[in-house]
Amino acid sequence: MSSAREAVASVVDPEIRVVTIDDLGILRAVEEDPATGRIVVTITPTYTGCPAMDVIRADIRRALAAAGHPDAEVRTVHSPAWSTDWISDAGRARLAAAGIAPPSAAPRDGVVPLTLAVRCPRCGSPETEQLSRFGSTACKALWRCRACSEPFDHVKAL
Ligand SMILES: [Zn+2]
Repeated sequence: MSSAREAVASVVDPEIRVVTIDDLGILRAVEEDPATGRIVVTITPTYTGCPAMDVIRADIRRALAAAGHPDAEVRTVHSPAWSTDWISDAGRARLAAAGIAPPSAAPRDGVVPLTLAVRCPRCGSPETEQLSRFGSTACKALWRCRACSEPFDHVKAL
């Protein structure tokens, strides 16, 4: 059972290969059906229409088969809806290390910041601008830093 969870948690996001689906908060549960002994994995899709989810489902099945669970089931739940708040601190650190600006955390304690600055993952400058709503994938936007003029991908906050 723990080996099944480890196998699933190590599946990387097919579009952002530096983070796992566990880092991103896509992975909700890995359980064993007491009646059948089958492993049941529950995932929540990130961005609506992200084609990556089909790849993720296939990768989960492949990882579980390799861990000795060839008849695993992958369930998709849409409620509660995934939000960028579910990305773990480790996941945010890995995104930043890969030059992908992690989405801003949601405002805490009801305090709504006036601007949600997207910081440059290279120099940390908040002087950034969006070049395109869509970056290398539909889930990311292309931004550019005005301080060091580097373009970078930003995972869209939800
Ligand atoms: Zn910069």
